[in-house]
Amino acid sequence: MTDSDVLDAAVRAARAYLAGLPTRPVGPRATLSELRAALGGPLPDDGEDAARVVAELARNADGGIVASAGPRYFGFVIGGSLPAALGADWLASAWDQNAGIYATSPAAAVVEEVAAGWLLDLFGLPASASVGFVTGGQMANTTCLAAARHAVLRRVGWDVEQRGLYGAPEIQVIVGAEAHVTIFGGLRLLGLGASRVRTVAADRQGRMRPDQLREALAATTGPTIVCAQVGNVNTGACDPTEEITALTREHGAWLHVDGAFGLWAAASPAYRPLVAGMARADSWSTDAHKWLNVPYDCGIAVVADSSAHRAALTATAAYLEKAADERRDPEDWTPEFSRRGRGFPVYAALRSLGRRGVAELVERDCRHARDLAERLRKAPGVEILNDVVLNQVLARFTPPGGGDADAFTRQVVERVQRDGTCWLSGTTWQGKGAMRISVSGWSTTAEDIARSADAILRASRSPS
Ligand SMILES: *Cc1c(COP(=O)(O)O)cnc(C)c1O
Repeated sequence: MTDSDVLDAAVRAARAYLAGLPTRPVGPRATLSELRAALGGPLPDDGEDAARVVAELARNADGGIVASAGPRYFGFVIGGSLPAALGADWLASAWDQNAGIYATSPAAAVVEEVAAGWLLDLFGLPASASVGFVTGGQMANTTCLAAARHAVLRRVGWDVEQRGLYGAPEIQVIVGAEAHVTIFGGLRLLGLGASRVRTVAADRQGRMRPDQLREALAATTGPTIVCAQVGNVNTGACDPTEEITALTREHGAWLHVDGAFGLWAAASPAYRPLVAGMARADSWSTDAHKWLNVPYDCGIAVVADSSAHRAALTATAAYLEKAADERRDPEDWTPEFSRRGRGFPVYAALRSLGRRGVAELVERDCRHARDLAERLRKAPGVEILNDVVLNQVLARFTPPGGGDADAFTRQVVERVQRDGTCWLSGTTWQGKGAMRISVSGWSTTAEDIARSADAILRASRSPS
């Protein structure tokens, strides 16, 4: 057995998977018990041949592998992997760089520095902002909220990194009614409490209402953090960040923007107006593994006040200036210490697309989402529940003879999943059952949209 036998086995399996993406059923095929039977068993006493282990893993896992990297996966908000990003990700594994500090991988540190600059430029964020490459949106939100916690307490003379929250001035947290669940995950981890928040009502598209935020801020004194959102996981709607930044500025609150996928609107001249004003916030979180289409796991945390970011996250003493040195230690900006070189695929994705390519990716997926919505809307019994402003569509189905639309919509979702032409899931939007469609992949074509619309309409034509 040599390294190259193993890599050959991996390449063969990867090529077979990628080649099959346009035609394989999009959802999983194996049941839980089938997967356990195929992959389980006792730990072998003796090691097995590495190439065979990899080849058999690929074969035995296949029934439980989802074609989420393919062109007709519309579940959750999940992008595929751009070829350049996939290639760079393979290299990141082969190189096995520890991207924690400059000394362990100067190349990883510099690639992140360069990619960070490109991202700030694409999003129109301040060039002086700091960037951390984290595991995903959850950790990006947590990282940004840690910087926020530091900054709002520093302003009242409290060093939270050293003293914790014991006896600290209370922090008021204000969130939109549609805040993503990972905002609350971050608040929990940071000792800020998931249910201690003040919730601001949202409008029918799920956008935070500025008049309600104004009232909430008027009733709030002391250290305050506001969490806004661009890109609602159901509707794709973006909070009115122009008004929200003005209100939070006036109040002196820290404004965090969760833009796991919605921040990418800023990279397109056509969609930038949707997130106007968001660049004046204090922190932003986004994902690279969603709309930029890099492999998991890769999220991005951006903080305007880099001193707050660093003080909250660095593993060396907070407030301590490091020796004047040009080197960027990636661990200063993330909760982790040792970690993978996740800047490599981001760098490769951005270079392979270029500024125009990123904009086109965003615009193409939004166009596909609109097209799909229009195809569905024309059919009898189909209602589109959201304004399709970005890449998300919510559809609701009434049975041919009339009847319970919630139950029937669930049934249509299950039928589509079983059919395998495309994959999507269900949700409840403002009390109504809905099919949730997200177009986030780089490889989806107009033909994929037409085929998927046909499959969905086919599933909605037979009665419950
Ligand atoms: C997906 C998403 C998150 C969480 O991101 P992960 O990468 O899954 O951790 C947070 N906020 C919003 C709005 C999202 O869409």
